[in-house]
Amino acid sequence: MSDHLAGSHDLVIFDLDGVVFLIDEPIPGAVEVVQRLRADGTAIAYATNNASRRAADVAALLTGMGVSAEPAEVLTSAGASAALLAERLPAGANVLVVGAEALRAEVRDAGLTPVDRLEDEPVAVVQGYGPEVGWKVLAEAVLAVRSGAVWYATNTDRTLPSPRGPLPGNGSLVAVLRTALDREPDVVVGKPQPGLFRTAAKQSGAERPLAVGDRLDTDIQGAVTAGIDSLLVLTGVSGPADLLAAPADRRPTYVAADLSGLFRAADDLRVPVSGSEAGGWSVSREGSRVSLDGSGDPVDALRLLCAATWSGVPLSGIDPVSAEARDLLLGWKI
Ligand SMILES: [Mg+2]
Repeated sequence: MSDHLAGSHDLVIFDLDGVVFLIDEPIPGAVEVVQRLRADGTAIAYATNNASRRAADVAALLTGMGVSAEPAEVLTSAGASAALLAERLPAGANVLVVGAEALRAEVRDAGLTPVDRLEDEPVAVVQGYGPEVGWKVLAEAVLAVRSGAVWYATNTDRTLPSPRGPLPGNGSLVAVLRTALDREPDVVVGKPQPGLFRTAAKQSGAERPLAVGDRLDTDIQGAVTAGIDSLLVLTGVSGPADLLAAPADRRPTYVAADLSGLFRAADDLRVPVSGSEAGGWSVSREGSRVSLDGSGDPVDALRLLCAATWSGVPLSGIDPVSAEARDLLLGWKI
């Protein structure tokens, strides 16, 4: 055991998009971080809400980018959804699949029968992200749910990160059914539900897992619900303003600019910082206002400010004192 963050945990569970890669490009440093974890003997898992690839495909994609990964280390919301449906339904039951080929394959491998029309009398609908999903199959899903089929969503991520900015994710497509049916899915499988994290911990026998993610509303909330430590990295969807405004069930244990934080002292990354100084920054609080002065690493300032905003100071109550503090808040759009 070492006192750096990864060394004080026996399993590191990575989210993928926005953490290890952005679409199909590895995030700088990710390859080296995974190599170093392997060299240190730290167990690794990859837990993704993305339901458009199978575990073996995800492992191959990662390996192709230079990030070592075994299929058994990969947990997808597609695989988990199919496993849960197979527990609930009789073998061979018809399941209407709204999503990518990977989800159909998972449903088939779980001993169920993927179908795509109401006429096939599906007893369940499973909905996951697929770039080809269109109105026709969404309409069949609406009819099936209205006829009594149980409705599973692999996840409800509203957006997917992309080099062009956030794009519609499965949550946006779930919203189509939700609007048409005026009801919620019966079961949501992926993060922020704790299932993927709990399965990962169980599979590797870990007692002190660490979840690493880029989204407060999925990765971090899932870790909080699962009762495990979490690290937010600022390479994906959630940014400083989101973190400062995070409700209690979406607050990470640690925050770092990127994955290199795994090899820094855990206490340096903990949020919020107790005390009023970090790096070259200082804060002082008066009632519902807080002032930020000094300069230095932006993430040090962020951890300091979390102490104020997480205990009642609104974002509009943050006053910059130094020019660096002003630039920082402008950059964070606060
Ligand atoms: Mg992500």
